[in-house]
Amino acid sequence: VHAAGIIPYRIFKGGEEEPTTTADTYLQRNLCPFARACMGYALMGHYDFLDGVASTHTCDAIHRLPYVWEKYVKKPFFFQLDLPRVFEGGAHNYFKKEVIRFKGALEQFSGNKITDDKLTNSIKIYNKTRSLLKRIYELRKAHEPLISGTDSVKIVQAAMILERETCNELLGELKNELEKNSNGLKKGPRILFTGSIIADGDYKVMDLIEQLGGLIVTDDLCTGSRYFWDLVDESKSPIEAISERYFFQIPCPRMKSVKKRLDHVLNLTKEFKIDGVIYYNLKFCETFQYDYPIFKKELEKIEIPLLRLDTDYSELDIGQLRTRIEAFLEMI
Ligand code: SF4
Repeated sequence: VHAAGIIPYRIFKGGEEEPTTTADTYLQRNLCPFARACMGYALMGHYDFLDGVASTHTCDAIHRLPYVWEKYVKKPFFFQLDLPRVFEGGAHNYFKKEVIRFKGALEQFSGNKITDDKLTNSIKIYNKTRSLLKRIYELRKAHEPLISGTDSVKIVQAAMILERETCNELLGELKNELEKNSNGLKKGPRILFTGSIIADGDYKVMDLIEQLGGLIVTDDLCTGSRYFWDLVDESKSPIEAISERYFFQIPCPRMKSVKKRLDHVLNLTKEFKIDGVIYYNLKFCETFQYDYPIFKKELEKIEIPLLRLDTDYSELDIGQLRTRIEAFLEMI
């Protein structure tokens, strides 16, 4: 997208009830609040500034959402990138063809040819963003981390939508400042936060954990560490490298194999000296629900306590969440 001269913007706003109820006219209520909020914000005009929407086949909710969106909120460009669920056989080859099809659609829409040189340049710029974010996350391994979990996710989210050169400049400044600073946050139980998407605005649970004295020192979120963890291989041909990176990256649970994500989480528990894991499950997010028992079993084996929290974008369960988080933090 960047190489075509188009400004990429991730649709990830959430955390408010009004858009979810707005979307109820067009979507069934047993979709997760994030998918409903995407549609709701579009209907409310929040995404009027966009010229097009490209989405991929992640969970069923997101797979079907663009078809409804396309019908009721018109845009000049719509693209659905198909993504196999398995890693084996010809799956990667198929995905690579999808990436090439996407490239062609972007060229046609923008009128700009996406050359290998442009792609190589974009890969370098985005790899720089990824490396800077990873370094900022690594600084949270400290005994008294310099930055909270909620702020870290907000930084990643900003990096997803900021103009690239400004983004890298700001991230570089932040990294340098954090490297010089030694005044960390106060001590507390070290938490790894995993689960459904943390949308821009959906900080209810993360805020509660940190207000109650927990330190979220790392995460396994698509709007967190999974966004930047893997680099695109700069030594390969650009299309090959991009398709490999997005296909073989630490997967979201919509991919069939849970092992890679589980290994990532288990490694993070060691690297960041984790005392407990909080598993955030947006209501009706079946993809993360399916993985939960496997995570529970594996974390029990290494004696890391796990708390699963099911919630949505309402404020009604704050008291209940507070009690459960408080008890969990006390216990660990
Ligand atoms: S993966 Fe879960 S949270 Fe994300 S859109 Fe699908 S159902 Fe919603």
